[in-house]
Amino acid sequence: MADGSGVIATVRTTCPYCGVGCGVAGAAGGGRTLAVSGDPAHPANKGRLCSKGSALGATVGLQGRLLEPSINGRTVNWGEATALVAKRFRDTIARHGRDSVAFYVSGQLLTEDYYVANKLMKGFIGSGNIDTNSRLCMASAVAAHKQAFGADLVPGCYEDLDEADLVVFAGHNAAWTHPILFRRLEAAKARGQKHIVIDPRRTDTAEGADLHLAIAPQSDVRLWNGLLAELDRRGLLDLTYVAEHVNGIDAVREALAQDDQSPAVVAADCGIAVEDLLAFYDLFAAHPKTVSLFSMGSNQSAQGVAKGLAILNVHLATGRIGKPGACPFSITGQPNAMGGRETGGMANTLAGHMDFAPEDRDRVARFWGAPHTARAPGLKAVEMFEAVRAGKIKAIWVMATNPAVSLPDAGAVREALEACPFVVVSDCVETDTTAYAHVKLPALAWAEKDGTVTNSERRISRQRALFPAPGQARADWRIMADVAQGMGFDGFGWPSQASIFREWARLTSYENQGSRLLDLTGLAPMAPDDYAAMTPIQWPVRADGKGTPRLFVDGRFQTPDGRARMVPVRPKGPADAVSDAFPMSLNTGRIRDQWHTMTRTGLAPDLCRHAPEPFVEIHPRDAEIAGIKDGALTRVSTARGEAVALAKVTDRQRLGGLFMPMHWTDAFAPSGKSNHLIAPNLDPASGQPEFKHTPARARPYRET
Ligand code: SF4
Repeated sequence: MADGSGVIATVRTTCPYCGVGCGVAGAAGGGRTLAVSGDPAHPANKGRLCSKGSALGATVGLQGRLLEPSINGRTVNWGEATALVAKRFRDTIARHGRDSVAFYVSGQLLTEDYYVANKLMKGFIGSGNIDTNSRLCMASAVAAHKQAFGADLVPGCYEDLDEADLVVFAGHNAAWTHPILFRRLEAAKARGQKHIVIDPRRTDTAEGADLHLAIAPQSDVRLWNGLLAELDRRGLLDLTYVAEHVNGIDAVREALAQDDQSPAVVAADCGIAVEDLLAFYDLFAAHPKTVSLFSMGSNQSAQGVAKGLAILNVHLATGRIGKPGACPFSITGQPNAMGGRETGGMANTLAGHMDFAPEDRDRVARFWGAPHTARAPGLKAVEMFEAVRAGKIKAIWVMATNPAVSLPDAGAVREALEACPFVVVSDCVETDTTAYAHVKLPALAWAEKDGTVTNSERRISRQRALFPAPGQARADWRIMADVAQGMGFDGFGWPSQASIFREWARLTSYENQGSRLLDLTGLAPMAPDDYAAMTPIQWPVRADGKGTPRLFVDGRFQTPDGRARMVPVRPKGPADAVSDAFPMSLNTGRIRDQWHTMTRTGLAPDLCRHAPEPFVEIHPRDAEIAGIKDGALTRVSTARGEAVALAKVTDRQRLGGLFMPMHWTDAFAPSGKSNHLIAPNLDPASGQPEFKHTPARARPYRET
């Protein structure tokens, strides 16, 4: 923002897109112009930005913004809007109980927003019904971490990527989804680091890799189990580490013995050449300093937790964890997916990585002075909208996300919203979902928000405002605090986001006795000026105020006995098998230059040039059989519906597979929406949907 002298000050903030969490230096001028560059002082990116980050300046206009509260299309003032939301939630709870209401929130929220949302729903409304769109992104990794480590803990840091001799990308197209991390890895590769990519598509990440394993859909567990069995056969497990720090290896060995682990059979089951499988085994065996990155391709599966556990099992059995250059590393999709995990943004956790165990629940309830704090987990994202559709949830508040496009079987989500007696949407822009809102509440956008976010390596960074709030837009935390006070609840009278952060930091150490790794004790006493000037830091931050780059260095985990757990997992096929009617496997995901439902990146012409229209990738042989020509309009259908997209005929796509981006919306290309086609099959433990496989069929737009 310009100061009184007309000098434009540079503000250090954080990119709002992916979980890399790059630092951005922004200089805002008149007419909402914004010049951005990478912040050279930020350890995540050291001055670099990818195409999306570099185009942030083109996304901060007021086009499409929500600027006034409204009720059924009538512009109202904030007092009227929040009073109605408070009354309708209060009345609904009085008539139908605490679990008749729900919040569906977002990894776009700041940690302070997330904290307030959880305090209101779980603490004072007394229901577990708050879940986040991060459920679609990394819930399976969270569940795997909790089973193996005793809590949702990401062991590594980005320096481990520099130090590793081998990096395995498991369902992770880093070149497109986390470009700045990928550039860091390319630099390491130039120094001799080896790269293996496990992905049914030959992505840009796979193009330059030393080995690409284009495995059959959902054969990941088979592959990682095969690796573990082979390392055991070769005597390459670190049995000393296991004896000192890990439980469960015998049960895992028994589970492995139930399947034929000979390389020829594993390779056949995974749909790859046995030579490639052996090359994978050899590379892994030869490089103890291994980082295994796993992301959506692993998590978005009806067996996403098993996939995560299979990866963690290999790292625990070989002692490749808690050491420089060696760890399993779940990379998050959203800028503050981690902040949501930390503050209890998921329906099955409480704030501070606490569970619903009675002692945890009572600890949180005492801290908040909230005797009605929820005693049981709430409904996870997909289940939540199913409950709305079934009439069990009668009031829902959607914050900063667009489930009418992004959830699987999104047509059913629209039916749920249509039928719901009371829908509130707080967002910075009009979306497909605001069309269903009885009450629309204008929230701040990225360039106006002030608070904190946590990236994939547990690093907390400040997001700072570059522009004043436009129109009547308000911070999400303040909107929720006003509604909470309207409902008659105490404990929501914070004067600023800094005071929320301090309360949150105190909660992490409340009766904590230093035993939990999610500890922000060293940040709790921060004065407002310190919060304003806060520099990026990785938790845990103990009383000495120092951050912690790497976890489990001492081989102690957060289980009751301090030992990690290897968990037996067996391979299973996809939830829905392909059929004569739907003989192909549809996979949806992101492309390089778009973000979620394009509400921001769709405003940047440079970003839209990369892929201006919805497309479907198909292998040349499949295209020939179906009579589909490159660039031709193509119908993609599943049991849920049909979409139309341009065919990209490419041998980068595995035979029998289809890939469609998930970004297009009613505003950009209504017939190109892909998540409408996805079956709502979920991992039973994590509730994460199987976006990476739905039986489908592709045919020419006009069949002859
Ligand atoms: Fe933003 Fe991610 Fe690109 Fe960094 S890598 S600039 S955080 S989108």
